Amino acid sequence: MDGAALAARVRAELKTGVAALGGVGLATVLVGEDAASQIYIRLKHKAADEVGIAAADRRLSEGTSEEDLVALIGDLNTDDSVDGILVQTPLPPHIDEARVMRAIEPTKDVDGLHPFNAGQLFFGRPTLVPATPLGIMRMLDEYRIPLAGRRAVVVGRSLIVGRPVALLLLHANATVTICHSRTEDLARETLAADILVAGVGQPALITADMVKLGAAVVDVGINRTEAGIVGDVDPSVADVAAFLTPVPGGVGPMTIASVLANAVRAASYQKGALAFPRA
Ligand code: NDP
Repeated sequence: MDGAALAARVRAELKTGVAALGGVGLATVLVGEDAASQIYIRLKHKAADEVGIAAADRRLSEGTSEEDLVALIGDLNTDDSVDGILVQTPLPPHIDEARVMRAIEPTKDVDGLHPFNAGQLFFGRPTLVPATPLGIMRMLDEYRIPLAGRRAVVVGRSLIVGRPVALLLLHANATVTICHSRTEDLARETLAADILVAGVGQPALITADMVKLGAAVVDVGINRTEAGIVGDVDPSVADVAAFLTPVPGGVGPMTIASVLANAVRAASYQKGALAFPRA
């Protein structure tokens, strides 16, 4: 499954969406100097430029207090030029990520991590959904992978990958199993999967003998090794799987494209083109 090619198509669609809305404003917030986070912010700004989203790059020092970060978010919440807010994680350890996510105005919550948006996903009425799961679902849809009634196994249960993708697969009527570090016999679970999503962060965790013949395998992992960036899925899985996302060039570009899709959705909420459900 070619995420890079599909992401290029998604960006072309979004360009039209941005123009139709008369412009979209995104504010990214980066706290500290984390090298990987700086790369992600750069990629998001480059992609935003390409589709005509005006992205403001707000940077705060590593030592910024939680209060100051929350105050900045308060300003962005009321700034009419900002349709969407993205706070790059991980945040420094002295800052409570959950509090920061709660501080973001839900209609501007591009990461989909505000409890209101997470709750909407739980109820099966998604509003703003974390970008990686959104990109994965779009890819499965584009490749016409049947989901209803199929067995989907998700390895990893994080708030940004495993849990939301499991809920989206469930809403698409797959029979979903979630595995994690305490799962007793991982291979037994993964071998049953028609759709296997690996979002762990361990190179080659999923080997060919753990995958059912003809399965669709989505490799979310981004692992920096001496051999370069590799996923969680061993390349030999290509011999068994009917569909496999490459790393790099699979889920990564779709995640970036989905961040932009969320920014456009957030702008649609701000401009009244889409109704946002309120309590
Ligand atoms: P987290 O560290 O938050 O979560 C990892 C999950 O994997 C946890 O639920 C953990 O279980 C589980 N796990 C750890 N070891 C095992 C094991 N041996 N067997 C089964 N499950 C295990 O990571 P993220 O979800 O944030 O990211 C996962 C990977 O995806 C990383 O490589 C990250 O870089 C990448 N990523 C890629 C993106 C992309 O755009 N392609 C976007 C986001 C992330 P437990 O809960 O029990 O600890």
